[in-house]
Amino acid sequence: MSEPVTVVGGGLAGCECAWQLARRGVPVVLREMRPQRSTPAHKTGRLAELVCSNSLRSDDPLHASGLLKREMEAFGSLIVAAARRSAVPAGSALAVDRERFAADVTATLEATPGLEIRRDEVRDLPAGDAVLATGPLTSEALAASLEELLGGEHLYFYDAIAPIVDGDSLDHSLLYWASRYGKGGDDYLNVPLEREEYLAFHQAVVEAEVLPLHDFEQNLFFEGCLPIEELARRGVDTLRFGPMKPVGLTAPDGSRGYAVVQLRRESLAHDQLNLVGFQSRMKWGEQKRVLGLIPGFAGARFVRLGQIHRNTFINSPRHLDRFYRLKSRPQLRLAGQITGVEGYLESAATGLASALYLALERRGGGAEALPDTTALGALARHLIDSGEENFQPANVNYGLFPELPRRLPRKQRRQAHAERAGADLAAWAERQDLKLVPAAPEAVASVAAESR
Ligand SMILES: Cc1cc2nc3c(=O)[nH]c(=O)nc-3n(C[C@H](O)[C@H](O)[C@H](O)COP(=O)(O)OP(=O)(O)OC[C@H]3O[C@@H](n4cnc5c(N)ncnc54)[C@H](O)[C@@H]3O)c2cc1C
Repeated sequence: MSEPVTVVGGGLAGCECAWQLARRGVPVVLREMRPQRSTPAHKTGRLAELVCSNSLRSDDPLHASGLLKREMEAFGSLIVAAARRSAVPAGSALAVDRERFAADVTATLEATPGLEIRRDEVRDLPAGDAVLATGPLTSEALAASLEELLGGEHLYFYDAIAPIVDGDSLDHSLLYWASRYGKGGDDYLNVPLEREEYLAFHQAVVEAEVLPLHDFEQNLFFEGCLPIEELARRGVDTLRFGPMKPVGLTAPDGSRGYAVVQLRRESLAHDQLNLVGFQSRMKWGEQKRVLGLIPGFAGARFVRLGQIHRNTFINSPRHLDRFYRLKSRPQLRLAGQITGVEGYLESAATGLASALYLALERRGGGAEALPDTTALGALARHLIDSGEENFQPANVNYGLFPELPRRLPRKQRRQAHAERAGADLAAWAERQDLKLVPAAPEAVASVAAESR
């Protein structure tokens, strides 16, 4: 039997990576520090815990993240399969019941042959073939070891998480269920605000006390996940054109709000609701006071309030190659958010790709890089070909893909991207002698070796 690969971190990337390796006949030891040692954001000891939103973004096959899901499914992704098994209604997005999702991934991996799970903190970089997937909240000791290997260099920025409210504590006479533009049924609970209500809310957000940042931490927020107070400070209408935009939403009485807060179900029980886009670093007492100004929220009970968090990632254009190997130590690969991809799905996708490459290498003959024209390849392209100077994390989007041979209207462009990606992925898989077979949920018992 070949030497096991050490996968460090049982989050989205590490779980997908371990699963892919094991089902391709490569033995794995997956090391996760929780529950002995937790991070500032995780709450449980489960693998693949989602720390903030419960959404894996759009499931539209023509959307870049919908395309990425389909590519992952073609390789039998555990994360996408578990997400589908624990899905909750969310319009065109794939959102999950987080408890079920994490329990599913944990149980599946525990039952996977060739995969050992060890619960301990890894403090030093592991020897031999290894994949580091310790995420944005990598423990300090391991981060220090990595920093040392990379020559004392360490990148980070700050992100903030959205509050969750108990749906039963809201005054539903002021709210209505609907999806934007009617896409996806009644999946969101909407709170319309009149102009005066919006202006008072905006003022309260601007004036609320926030947790202080150190000087060197200024301007480090990721543009796609800005806290509401940052947005509010940019101008009186910024929230109304951002997370509180009213377009495409009409109340049952035919009225349209001046602004709208959208809430999305957190669990199949429908009782917990996530305030979409309401990430915040306001002090907790302030959050309760300010959010209490939203119509229907006077008696709101919050299951979780917004938070600020660190996000650790390396300068991938400088340190990684196309196969997720560290240039200075090729036996060590990185996957997940620590590479500078952003998001649950993207993290899992890099776990999948790094495992594919490692499994192909173990088979002998090396691997060819995934085509840049596929969603999986485009993510790696972002990590490797972005300039070193201003490297920033990114979600998957068509802007990361190589241009199409000719200009097309937007809708046709997405179609053309998806078709080109599908054809190129199939051809790549054939050249690697890999079967594109989605894993059935019940495949756990027979995961043995799918070596080709
Ligand atoms: C507070 C917060 C909010 C976020 N909100 C969102 C969101 O709403 N939507 C979204 O798509 N993304 C969000 N992200 C980003 C999110 O973290 C990633 O999308 C995704 O979880 C990253 O996957 P990962 O596998 O790289 O890391 P993680 O899922 O964080 O997994 C890393 C794992 O490694 C473990 N670990 C760390 N150090 C060690 C060690 N030394 N030894 C052993 N185990 C270790 C951790 O316990 C963890 O289980 C958020 C991140 C944070 C921190």
